[in-house]
Amino acid sequence: MAIFLFEQGSAPLLVSIPHSGTELPSDLSSRLTNTARTLPDTDWFVDRLYAFAETMGCSVIKANYSRYVVDLNRPPDGAPLYPGRSETELCPTTDFSNAPLYRNATALSQEEVGARIDRYWRPYHEAIEAELERLLEQHGVACLWDAHSIPSAVPRFFDGVLPELNLGTADGTSCAPWMRNAAWSIIRDSRYSSVLDGRFKGGYITRRYGDPQRNVHAAQLEIAQRAYMREGDCESDVPEFDDRKATELQALLQKILKSMLDGASARRR
Ligand SMILES: [Zn+2]
Repeated sequence: MAIFLFEQGSAPLLVSIPHSGTELPSDLSSRLTNTARTLPDTDWFVDRLYAFAETMGCSVIKANYSRYVVDLNRPPDGAPLYPGRSETELCPTTDFSNAPLYRNATALSQEEVGARIDRYWRPYHEAIEAELERLLEQHGVACLWDAHSIPSAVPRFFDGVLPELNLGTADGTSCAPWMRNAAWSIIRDSRYSSVLDGRFKGGYITRRYGDPQRNVHAAQLEIAQRAYMREGDCESDVPEFDDRKATELQALLQKILKSMLDGASARRR
């Protein structure tokens, strides 16, 4: 199994989908608990949700392996993204409900973490970097949209219920105001509940690659899963895509990506 799928497009926008992968290497799978093997913390169906992006000419990169192998949206040194908040590690050992992922809860060795970085983390990031450079060279501008989803309620990370659409721009530092405004104005004016740079301000990918000075602009959209799927009442429920909800949300996502492409084409250098 390839580490990731990559489709190169013709437009100056790369969509990154780091957490919808469901593959596990067999030597890892056998060490996980039965619950962990159902991959409850997956960004379910985010690749399916953004399937339209390729038809718009966007480039798309999507990780095939589960975030339980290595979290592509964390820095390789494991530094916290949100200091003071509970968060899962670069190579997680607990799930979002704080349950252990491994049958034998011993810490992962530095060797194992390092090997996962080399095999799974680095190639994904090298591909993002190369594609953004290519877009910049070809178009004079490059945009990155980091696509995520999460259960609507995760007490470990936030109180209550998350707004449906959580746009993150690292407090306005990962992209120019035009892109932030383009995305946010559409989200804010939609029927969905939303927040800009709230609990989720953009993870490592957004912060690492967004460089507005160079005309490289990045943003993250964290979508509460009730906006496009049936959220289970108990952990054993099988995740289910909701076509009706998804179709409505896809129309909005399409509008957002389109407005970023329009903005980018006006800002070629
Ligand atoms: Zn995610």
